[in-house]
Amino acid sequence: MKEQLRAHLLYLAEQGVQGLEIPGLPDNVSDNRAETDFNRECLQALWHRLENCTRCKLHRGRNNIVFGEGSPTPDIVFVGEGPGRDEDLQGRPFVGRAGALLNRILAAMGLQREEIYICNVVKCRPPNNRNPEPDEISTCSPFLAQQIDILQPRVICALGNVAAAFLTGRNAPMTVLRGRFYDYRGICVRPTYHPAAILRNPGYRRPVWEDVQELMRYIGKPVP
Ligand code: SF4
Repeated sequence: MKEQLRAHLLYLAEQGVQGLEIPGLPDNVSDNRAETDFNRECLQALWHRLENCTRCKLHRGRNNIVFGEGSPTPDIVFVGEGPGRDEDLQGRPFVGRAGALLNRILAAMGLQREEIYICNVVKCRPPNNRNPEPDEISTCSPFLAQQIDILQPRVICALGNVAAAFLTGRNAPMTVLRGRFYDYRGICVRPTYHPAAILRNPGYRRPVWEDVQELMRYIGKPVP
């Protein structure tokens, strides 16, 4: 993983990212603290590449780019489809009603937000909360791919149909996709319903709970 991260940081430097001290990289990042600092620096470098981004049409209506937040060395990364109104205003992922529900799900899993990482497939709010369109996903998703490459979680939880379709490579209803693991860039992916869908349909609570329990079993921290 160290070499992958180093290659990534070098790539960012080649792209003109400022403020990286490549010669000063630690030779040994096996230490947790060094790895945390290293990943944080990689994420910051990636964030700088997105500043003032106008690569796709979603930039026109946004207030803030919602890059993502959380632990730089998480076991689990949660990926949603894109920012909503509250997220766009605050520049943070999952801060509205759906975010409050996600926080409750995490608490039930025995996790704090600071222990995991949360981001979206696209980083700017689609107008009127529509789904991101294919051209927007294809333009923005390389940044998600690079986030995942940096974070190297043990498992990814895809929240909702857009994230599930992108991360599994399959266009199918959640009823078909959920219940098994997939692979994204060498990392296991478990799809489940988006918290906003649970707010609309409380019947999704049980399958989501089953899915997150499966996630916790996978990382060796089963929910009691
Ligand atoms: S959605 Fe992504 S690619 Fe499009 S403008 Fe925002 S940051 Fe750039």
